[in-house]
Amino acid sequence: MALTDLKSLTYNQLNSFITNELGEAPFRTKQIFSWLHKGVTSFDEMTNLSKALRQKLSQTSYISKLETERKQVSKLDCTTKYLFRLDDGNCIETVVMYYKHGISVCVSSQVGCAMGCRFCASTIGGKLRSLNAGEILDQILFAQKDIGERISNIVMMGIGEPLDNYDNVMAFLQNVNHPDGVNIGYRHISLSTCGLVDKIYKLADENLPITLSVSLHAPNDEIRNSIMPVNRKYNIHELITACKAYLEKTGRRISFEYSLISGVNDSVENARELAHLLKGMLCHINLIPVNSIEERRDSIKKSTSENIIKFLNELTRLGMNATVRRELGSDIDASCGQLRKKRMSEPKA
Ligand code: SAH
Repeated sequence: MALTDLKSLTYNQLNSFITNELGEAPFRTKQIFSWLHKGVTSFDEMTNLSKALRQKLSQTSYISKLETERKQVSKLDCTTKYLFRLDDGNCIETVVMYYKHGISVCVSSQVGCAMGCRFCASTIGGKLRSLNAGEILDQILFAQKDIGERISNIVMMGIGEPLDNYDNVMAFLQNVNHPDGVNIGYRHISLSTCGLVDKIYKLADENLPITLSVSLHAPNDEIRNSIMPVNRKYNIHELITACKAYLEKTGRRISFEYSLISGVNDSVENARELAHLLKGMLCHINLIPVNSIEERRDSIKKSTSENIIKFLNELTRLGMNATVRRELGSDIDASCGQLRKKRMSEPKA
């Protein structure tokens, strides 16, 4: 019989496992849930459970855990990047960032990515598999334990497309928000998508007050088609219509990510087009100087500081709410996917 992965169960699913399958009293659910979400890695650590129950648990279920393959701490700003090994040997990345308003963790949702964005390191090599809810949560639990401080914010902007792993991501969100677990408020969670329109509508229906970040990166279909294959399935008009529906339903301001790539999407004309596209919408534009990755060195280059400022100024002049994202951890390959990719191309130890 396959063992049950406890951290991938939602609270209600865990409750039904504990009461129906194991025949235990319901109050055990809360105890076990709390232990799991404190990041214990063995049943022996669950000291308020009887030995018999711990044994029963270990015969029927397991607690997933991560191994640190590599850890890098930025000398510039303490940004910490982990390369974790999952139970099946695959690797993912997680980044901890320190801000004035708290500590934020950027989590991965898949091993690799199927979306194929031209500028992104995570998608080289494709998607190997999706993470289950427990593996997404493990990144938070591990980081929190390792740094010894409470994590206050989560951004789902690591490796993978979260909306391409919808059900597991929803279970993770429910669990990480649970008062008996890590208890991080939905308002402190951002989910980033390259624009899977059908899933944006589905997410809107969940009505969670999380922040939706949309990786737009282009003001028109011609440019977006050339850098993001997903745009051939859902074009900009469909994407923006879905974003408006999301906004209407949740009342939450949308955050648009726009990575500036030299000569591709960074002209003042592009800024004007972008302002026109988003005019009147409750949103924020996050400008990101693109991180050029080795494989695309020739086609994907960072915009000059001068062009970035001109782009920002044009958006501001046109009344848009835009900022340039501060680059954290630039000395440790902190942009997602780069560390895993490096590890994959190294000879096995
Ligand atoms: N799949 C999701 C989340 C992962 S990527 C998404 O597409 O939104 C997180 C953000 O980093 C996205 O906005 C993505 O487009 C951006 N990104 C990826 N590679 C980048 C790079 N080399 N430079 C700058 N931004 C990058």
